[in-house]
Amino acid sequence: MSTLKPSILLIYTGGTIGMMQDPKTGALKPFNFKHLTKQVPELHRLDVQLDSVSFSKPIDSSNMHPRIWIELAEIIEKNYAKYAGFVVLHGSDTMAYSASALSFMFENLAKPIIFTGSQLPIGIIRTDGKENLITAIEIAAARYQGKPVVPEVAVYFEYELYRGNRTLKYNSAHFDAFKSPNYAVLAEAGVKIEYNTAAIQKDSAKKLIVHKQWDNDILVLFLFPGISKKITQHMLATPGIKAILIQTFGSGNALTDKWFIDALQQAIQRGVIILNITQCLEGRVIQGKYETSSMLEKIGVCGGADMTMEAALTKLMFLLGKKLPAEKVKQLLMQNLRGELTIS
Ligand code: ASP
Repeated sequence: MSTLKPSILLIYTGGTIGMMQDPKTGALKPFNFKHLTKQVPELHRLDVQLDSVSFSKPIDSSNMHPRIWIELAEIIEKNYAKYAGFVVLHGSDTMAYSASALSFMFENLAKPIIFTGSQLPIGIIRTDGKENLITAIEIAAARYQGKPVVPEVAVYFEYELYRGNRTLKYNSAHFDAFKSPNYAVLAEAGVKIEYNTAAIQKDSAKKLIVHKQWDNDILVLFLFPGISKKITQHMLATPGIKAILIQTFGSGNALTDKWFIDALQQAIQRGVIILNITQCLEGRVIQGKYETSSMLEKIGVCGGADMTMEAALTKLMFLLGKKLPAEKVKQLLMQNLRGELTIS
């Protein structure tokens, strides 16, 4: 059937939006996707040509894994030429990780990939899922002068659109569940959808490249006052670690104890890459601002600027997967690849 309406592919991966209560246990679990479209007859009234595809086994997003990101990316890659945009229905728990991951996987993206989900299943009368789904489709289909308005991986939730690799889930109870603390909101949906065009990436004229290699040999080390010397030394010396993400205090500060710096330095000498991310949700890592981060800079820890933990972690897995020399990985970590960090 030929149509001038933009064609959108809806991909259901799982998550609350399409869950039902198990009558026996009362727990929420994913159900057959066909029920989802039945629940939202309004979808047929949208001015788009909508097709949908579901994972054969929809998941709760806490079971997300890089091999599922590849599965998802391949669905988009296979259908890339055929559709004007993509909407990914995904559980909210790890949506920020998946949106970050896909942003790194799709180099030279020229079409919208909009993630959305909900806090309440779509079949529940007070659901937030309907509005999220309908507006995400409208955003994926939006065009201006023949070009997509949002040619990037983004997250739409509760009236706001965010850059995917800048988001984090910060609230498990409110409909307003996401934030993009270090980057402007890309659009706000009120009576009209107001796009912040200055903040939205431009579409790329270059050929799309889909990267599919991941390496998860990474340790995440969350610092706290009184962190155990014995346990930390043991963790940092774990065989097989290729990278360590340290979550530090404030603007990238850490304890200055000799044993700690020595343990980091020994890891770096073994070829391990160390990336410094702040525990603060807003602000950035500035190594060398305080004495408590000068040594990190000196021994070769990479400063993660204003990246979210989700973006930093997926960027590390993505870069390690490319099997590049350590120096190149370090250089790329500190560069802005997909709008995930602000160069100061
Ligand atoms: N546990 C669910 C998931 O992430 C929560 C949600 O969908 O919002 O799959």
